[in-house]
Amino acid sequence: MNPTLIAGWQKGGQLMITTDVENFPGFETMIQGPWLMQQMEKQAHHVGTVIVEDSVKMVDFSKTPFVVQTELGQTYTADTLIIATGAQAKWLGIPSEKKFQGYGVSGCATCDGFFYKNKVVGVVGGGDTAAQEALYLTNHASKVYVFHWRDKMRAQPIMIERMEKHPKIEIIWNHQVHEVLGVTDPHKYVTGVILEHSQTKSRQQIALDGLFIAIGHKPSTDLFVGQLDMDEAGYIKVQTGSTVTSVPGVFAAGDVFDTTYRQAITAAGFGCMAALDAERYLSSH
Ligand code: NAP
Repeated sequence: MNPTLIAGWQKGGQLMITTDVENFPGFETMIQGPWLMQQMEKQAHHVGTVIVEDSVKMVDFSKTPFVVQTELGQTYTADTLIIATGAQAKWLGIPSEKKFQGYGVSGCATCDGFFYKNKVVGVVGGGDTAAQEALYLTNHASKVYVFHWRDKMRAQPIMIERMEKHPKIEIIWNHQVHEVLGVTDPHKYVTGVILEHSQTKSRQQIALDGLFIAIGHKPSTDLFVGQLDMDEAGYIKVQTGSTVTSVPGVFAAGDVFDTTYRQAITAAGFGCMAALDAERYLSSH
């Protein structure tokens, strides 16, 4: 086969903004997300993948070969296509959050929770991800605050109950993060947050060592709207136990359809499944 990888403008995806990775098998010591992606790029290149530095702006799945147009004005055709455009954690969008991203503000507790052993952390959100991250963080942190902007959570009742009963977790209802506080000199780190009450707008300060934003993910699927079946949140639908999408010959791998695991190693595994599915599709056609 002659695979071409159109890498997008954030080549390497979410791992390029992750620091330490400790749950990817095969490495004795902690590795860095960007380093891991460089190794994957070298390996793909070594086995003959053509890697294109460009981003896709339009696809046409209505006929075969499929047509892909890029932002740099190139047109590619393909007999099969694997979509691995991933998902992006949603952020609050306040300047202080961006300033401390990777220095105390994180979008992934399983990736970064380990660094908060016996420290105080906060989690923002009221869904299952926020509940799961808060409960996970109790394995490391001495105290976990959960900040939710409403007086009700959409997380499953059992998850809310577990949080409420947990001695290390304190839920602060009706508050949103107004500002992340921290130090930048000589090292950058987070020291706390200013919370604002959703109705009264009164503010309070809480001391923290880390802040985890868990307000949902957005799959990068805008390109495929109207061409592939998706769920209401925009995740591509695949046939159970495979990477087969609603269009024969188009496969999906990783966070672009996975709402459950979202790990580097599971995404890599789905990539392998998609390659096998694509190869079998080509053989049978
Ligand atoms: P979600 O269900 O969309 O929840 C996002 C939460 O963040 C909501 O409580 C939302 O508030 C809040 N939020 C959104 N924007 C905010 C902002 N700017 N500031 C403060 N809060 C904000 O997302 P999710 O928790 O990532 O879950 C996504 C899907 O994956 C869900 O279907 C979930 O069930 C599933 N999931 C399942 C598990 C599991 O263990 N089974 C684990 C994780 C995720 P509102 O409630 O006011 O909208």
